[in-house]
Amino acid sequence: MGEIVLKQITKSFGDISVIPPLDLTIANGEFVVFVGPSGCGKSTLLRLIAGLEDVSSGTIRIDGKDATALPPAQRGLAMVFQSYALYPHMTVRNNIAFPLKMARLDKAAVDRKVEAAAAVLNLTGYLDRRPGQLSGGQRQRVAIGRAIVREPTAFLFDEPLSNLDAALRVNMRLEISELHASLGTTMIYVTHDQVEAMTMADKIVVLNAGRIEQVGSPIELYSRPRNRFVAGFIGSPR
Ligand code: ADP
Ligand code: MG
Repeated sequence: MGEIVLKQITKSFGDISVIPPLDLTIANGEFVVFVGPSGCGKSTLLRLIAGLEDVSSGTIRIDGKDATALPPAQRGLAMVFQSYALYPHMTVRNNIAFPLKMARLDKAAVDRKVEAAAAVLNLTGYLDRRPGQLSGGQRQRVAIGRAIVREPTAFLFDEPLSNLDAALRVNMRLEISELHASLGTTMIYVTHDQVEAMTMADKIVVLNAGRIEQVGSPIELYSRPRNRFVAGFIGSPR
């Protein structure tokens, strides 16, 4: 579970092409980072995978099944947004439970899943608070909790740490890496931050104007960048 295969997918907005034909295979359990400058199409690519945007052409397969035309809720994926996407008037418990209530699960099952997610994220003592009464890191963990309870086959993160301060960002990177290690679930993580890419990824996908410049492990990209763009972006001396 958690394998995602993109075949010749493209995306245009009107007559502006944002993603030219693109192929990519993400293996089950991989931590894949999409990295590249602002406006290069990282969010668009993630939204295509999530089903929040339709591809203009090409196919998306998830766990061997054609998911190209499936609505987001049927893809088995969970998108983690920045923490300001939390509902400010709801408690932490209800924020995390929200996707389960939408799925009409009974209360005992909801409580069990919410409490298990809270335990993983060190939020057990905070379930009755509201987002405004939490630190930035705790708020981001609540946003992750809301994804965990859905038990997705893959997590999709779009620059989840970009509104946190530098020290907290370092901390949360570690926490997300640990979460990946303990769940073993596929994670796709979008960032424009090279350090984040180098420290978190099993596999980095370097994007430039919607095109994949190179795919490889952090070590491969660092020691054998295919071109100047990759070298410049990853920061190796070539
Ligand atoms: P990134 O996340 O890498 O910063 P995006 O995927 O947000 O980049 O955007 C890639 C390009 O697509 C940008 O030029 C952006 O203006 C354009 N774009 C994104 N979404 C839309 C949209 N809904 N309509 C028109 N253009 C869009
Ligand atoms: Mg973006």
